[in-house]
Amino acid sequence: MTTSERQSAAPPAATAPAEGIVPDTKDWTWVLERPCPDCGLDSGAVARTAVPGLIRANAEAWAAVLAGDEAELRRRPAPDTWSDLEYACHVRDVFRLFRFRLDLMLDQDGPDFPNWDQDATAVAERYGEQEPKTVAADLTEAAQVLADAFERVEGAQWLRTGNRSDGARFTVESFSRYLVHDPGHHLYDVTGERA
Ligand SMILES: [Zn+2]
Repeated sequence: MTTSERQSAAPPAATAPAEGIVPDTKDWTWVLERPCPDCGLDSGAVARTAVPGLIRANAEAWAAVLAGDEAELRRRPAPDTWSDLEYACHVRDVFRLFRFRLDLMLDQDGPDFPNWDQDATAVAERYGEQEPKTVAADLTEAAQVLADAFERVEGAQWLRTGNRSDGARFTVESFSRYLVHDPGHHLYDVTGERA
């Protein structure tokens, strides 16, 4: 999703400013066309009916990660790589963002998605200083709300569309498959376990 929603985060460091940060402007919509060589998920092959279950399973895995040692959760492996806690905050916000975008597509005809700058959000919201237990609870709730919302989608609603500012056009169906990659990819970033 362009600069605002890239998935291999090289975040601006709140604690180590301007160190080795290279903006990543990749368009991640290719994940709908072939398996991700990193995390292994073949998003394009995911059945739309499987999406709610994948969202819930992903949230459970994040909750397990967030129950780990707090100092480890807050540690950045490198100055320009998010800590596990920062990744979790990002995934929580992705779940919220996707719920918002899903609602837009269901409520409006062919809406343009407002931009979201994930790196500015990470700094503004002080991801690295958040409380792991709170993040786990909020991530779980955001995932639940999103999964429930997808379970309510039916019939022609799957064909409704929405547009990203870079010109990428989604249907609710392609959006549902697209969205499962980001949280899964970041789980792989953190655990090293492929889909
Ligand atoms: Zn991936």
